[in-house]
Formats: sequence, C-alpha cells, structure tokens
Amino acid sequence: MADEPSTGGLHAHTRAIRAGRADNQNALAPILWATSTFTADSVSEARDLAVDTHSTRFYTRYGNPTVKAFEEVVADLEGTESARAFASGMGALSVIVLGLCSSGDHIVAQRQLYGGTQMLLQTVCPRFGIGVTFVDGTEPGAFAEAVIPGRTVLVIAESPANPKLDVIDLAEVGAIAGPMTVVDSTFATPLAQRPAEYGVDLVVHSATKAIAGHNDATIGVVAGSEELLAWLWSYAVLHGAAASPFDALNALRGVRTLAVRLRQQTDTATALVAALEGHPAVEAVYYPGLESHPQHELAAKQMELAGGLATFELRGGYEAGRLFMEEVRVVQFATSLGGPESLVTHPASTTHVSLLPAELEAICIGPGTVRFSAGLEHTDDVVADVIGALDRVEEIVPSADR
Ligand SMILES: *Cc1c(COP(=O)(O)O)cnc(C)c1O
Repeated sequence: MADEPSTGGLHAHTRAIRAGRADNQNALAPILWATSTFTADSVSEARDLAVDTHSTRFYTRYGNPTVKAFEEVVADLEGTESARAFASGMGALSVIVLGLCSSGDHIVAQRQLYGGTQMLLQTVCPRFGIGVTFVDGTEPGAFAEAVIPGRTVLVIAESPANPKLDVIDLAEVGAIAGPMTVVDSTFATPLAQRPAEYGVDLVVHSATKAIAGHNDATIGVVAGSEELLAWLWSYAVLHGAAASPFDALNALRGVRTLAVRLRQQTDTATALVAALEGHPAVEAVYYPGLESHPQHELAAKQMELAGGLATFELRGGYEAGRLFMEEVRVVQFATSLGGPESLVTHPASTTHVSLLPAELEAICIGPGTVRFSAGLEHTDDVVADVIGALDRVEEIVPSADR
C-alpha cells in the first residue's frame, strides 16, 4: 500500500516485492491464514467486524488477511485506492455485472472479449432484463456512441483483447461520462498498463493468468476507488465468489516475480513473431509490438511492454490449426496464459468448436487462428519448436495447393 513505510517513490517492480505486508508481523514471506472464521472478544467487536466493508477478521467470505494482502499489492501496482479479490476472473466480472446492474439497465461492451465474459453478457444478462450493446472497441468513439443516457450503467472493455490482441484506447474509455467504466487488463498486467491512470473506474484481472503466473491458482481481482469497491463488496458477500486464502498466497508469491517473467515472455513473443512473419504457412500475425498491428502506435503509447501473447492465422485453415496443435513438442496445448509453460490454443477446434463459421467470424476467430502464450523456456527452444511444427504442417498441407 501507498502508506507502507519505505516504499514511496519506488518503481512498481520494486514495490511488488514488499507490498501487502502491512499485517505480516515480522514474517518475511506472506502468511497463509487458512481459516474460514475468526473469534471475537465481545459482541460489539463482532458487530463492528460484520459491517466493515474491508473486514479481514470476521469470516473469510467477508475477507481474510492473506486475501487482503494480495488486494493491497494489486491496488498499489494499479495505483488505485483499493482492490477486492474473487474466486476467479469470472467471479470478479459476474460480481461487477450483477452487483451494479438491475433489470432495465443497459451495458455497452466490446465485441472482442474473453469467451466467458461474452457468454455472461449474452446469455445471463437478458435473463435479468439487462440490455447489452456490443460494439467494435477499436472503432474511435464506438463505446460513447452506444451509451444510452440515463440507462447505460456499465461500459466494459478488454485490452489487449481476445483473440487478436486488439488494443482499446484507454483514454477514450476513461473519458466516458455517466456510466461506470471497466477494463479487463488481464493480458497487460499492472506492470504493462494502468487503466486507472486514464480515468477508468474498475480494472479487472484474471490473476489466474500472469499475476499469479504459475498455473497453480484460480483467482480474480478488481481495483478501483474504495467507495465503489465497498458498494460492490456488499453484493459480493452474498454472491459468494470469495477468493481462497491458498490461491491468494500463490498469487502473492507470483506477483513478486511478475516483472522478470513479463520481460522474458515479451522477449520470447517478440522473437517468435519476427520468425512467423513471412513463414509460408502463416497468413497473418497479430502482436501489439509489431509495426503491422493496426493499433501499434496506441499500444506503444499506453503499454510499457507488448506482453507474451501473440495470435496468428494459418493459411491452411482448420486442418492446419488442428495439425499444428499436435506437432508442437516444447510448447504445450492447454487453455490459459501467462504461466511458466508456453501454451497454444486453437479456438475453432476446441473452445469454440460448436460455433458456425459466421459465428466465429463475428467474434474475430478464423478457422486457422492460433493463440500463443510465451512461457519461461529458453526463447530459442520455443521459436524452433513453433517454426518446426509449422514446417511439418506446411509439408502435410502445403499452402501452395490451396
Ligand atoms: C481467463 C480470463 C478471464 C476469466 O478468468 P478466470 O480466472 O478463468 O475466471 C477473463 N478475462 C480474460 C481476458 C481472461 O484471459
């Protein structure tokens, strides 16, 4: 936290090492508070704890010291007054939507979104009478134009966004007056961009990904003003998507190495996209750090690092994508990102297999779209593995034949 001694004026990379230790007594490493409840000395103390909107010693669904320590690190890194952690990124997003919107309200969201967020907005919101308008988040002014004065409660953006790493103008989202603005900043992490600096009200992370960073925790977090988070908390306590102290401990462990991991993953992704551009099996490469990326200048302006994610489209379509997943050896085939293992996913044959081509196109997924997440293996091994797999795909289904 900002009020912690000896951390003022330091870089975020340095603060990430020691933040969240306000309640750590003299233990160097974060303490695991593996308890579901806490004893009280008196009725008046229990009453005070029960109504405290950032309580840590009443009942773990209300709050927990290990979880609060993680919340304090994220608030510190994002530069916000406060943060609240949840059972997952989707736990955080569903609490925002269901905690802040009522029947008759309206949401503006971008079309390019994480699949779970998209499903929440498309299938759950209508059941509760909450209207949603989807816009192309990369089109200047699209969010603001879709706002219905007096009805729109939330504007939801994601940047960089699934699946082609579209970059959304944070200043434009932050400047929208009226509705509360939300940015899912999972792909960037707080070390690459800080949406709150642009006036965005709530910053969401699936900390399951790069923040915890070891593929051993499922946890989400929302950063913003204490007033807004206290309001959100009053619903969240009833929703029950509380973060587990064990996962918060793993996230606290992870965040201390986020800076070095993010730098290494950015280096690997940068080397890979350079090798991909011009490969005969590859139709297009999407990476915010590439000059060919449609929002490259915006990314350079608002992101300190382009990150470890890259997306590419194979010329051979569905069959090439399917083959590629089975040809990689160092890189593994799993759904997630930001961890030590380099991973690839092929949405058209896995997560989005039930969608028709037109439906896939509407959410910017092509038949040969592959998403790559850099891990921490040696850069040369990762690049050689991906290029080797593409060479074999090209031998089996030569793009010249199509
Ligand atoms: C994974 C992810 C989520 C959902 O987070 P979970 O922790 O899996 O619930 C939300 N947004 C983005 C961008 C994600 O990558």
